Formats: sequence, C-alpha cells, structure tokens
Amino acid sequence: MSKTFGQNDIKPLLNFGHQHYGENKVQECKLKWQDLKLQYENIKLHMIGKLQTNKVRDCVKYFDFIHSVDSKKLAKKISDEQIKINKKIKIFIQVNIGNEDQKSGISPENLEEFYKKCNDELELKIIGLMCIPPNDRNSDLYFSKMNKLLNAIGLKELSMGMSNDYLKAVEHNSSFIRIGSKIFGNRG
Ligand SMILES: *Cc1c(COP(=O)(O)O)cnc(C)c1O
Repeated sequence: MSKTFGQNDIKPLLNFGHQHYGENKVQECKLKWQDLKLQYENIKLHMIGKLQTNKVRDCVKYFDFIHSVDSKKLAKKISDEQIKINKKIKIFIQVNIGNEDQKSGISPENLEEFYKKCNDELELKIIGLMCIPPNDRNSDLYFSKMNKLLNAIGLKELSMGMSNDYLKAVEHNSSFIRIGSKIFGNRG
C-alpha cells in the first residue's frame, strides 16, 4: 500500500522490480502514478478503499484492480464505465466479515446473491473476496470464515492481511496481502 507516500519513497521499490501498488484515493493515484506508469512497465495499481460512484470513471481508467466493491450501485457504475472504454478491471468483493456497523462490505449472508448479480448480470470480472477483519484477537476465525466463503462461491483469490496480521492471513490462503507501514514506515 503506497497511499500517502510520494514518488521518492516509492522509487526504490520500483527499481527493485516490485510491480503491485495499492492506493485509496483516485486523485492521489492519478497525480502520483501517471508518469511513473510510463517509466516503469508492468505496474499494476490496486484501488483499496471506499470508492464513491462519482470517482468510478477515473478509477476504471487508472487502476487494474478494485478491492472494495461493496454495493450494487457501485458495481453497476463500474460495469457501465468499463464497457465504455472496453476494459475489464479485476475485482474483489469486500466482505464485512465481522458484521460491524462501522465497516463497509457485503454481509456474509448476502454474498452469494451479490456475487451472482455482479458476475452474471453486470458481467464484472470478480476474482475473489477482500476483508478488513475486526480489530480484535480473533483474526484466525475471520480469515478462516473468508476461506470458507471463497470456496463456497468457487473463487480463487483472497485479499486479506495488513502489516499486523499478514502472516496469519497467509496461513489462511491469502493471495493478496496489503502491506503499508511494514514496508514504508508509519504514515504521517
Ligand atoms: C492502509 C491499508 C492497508 C495497509 O495497512 P498497514 O497497516 O500500513 O499495512 C491495508 N488495507 C487497507 C484496506 C488499508 O486501508
């Protein structure tokens, strides 16, 4: 996750050959990555964060992955915008695995219906599920629930694990860990 970090912080990683970067603001991504994407081939940008529908057009243009699809309205908008430019973004459905009021995401109970809507009706390229588990000591439980949901639905990729819990996430089959501060240091 390179959010809040500038080009000078990111360049050592680019020069090392790292290709996948996460951002949580469309505008910040555009300013930071427009020229870097031309200089460095094969960069893949991941939108990981609350996405407003009025930002979807630019998001679809600049990003390769979206990890935070959490409503039918957003899914429909992405579908409309990507048809216009003939692009298929790789998408994760965000799951509110702890059923927390303050967190975004589809509840586990509604996941199957939501997935069908995205996949069959809107023809989105859903590759997996993403979660930000509750901030307690039960991350094993949430990660293993995510794994079961993934298998039930028949998808392959799991976006889970941050600086403080990525090792556990990997034990539970995570394929996209999202590390920010353990790589870049604390965000200001
Ligand atoms: C910022 C962020 C991360 C990275 O967090 P760190 O604790 O710095 O590794 C991962 N996932 C999401 C959704 C984030 O917003």
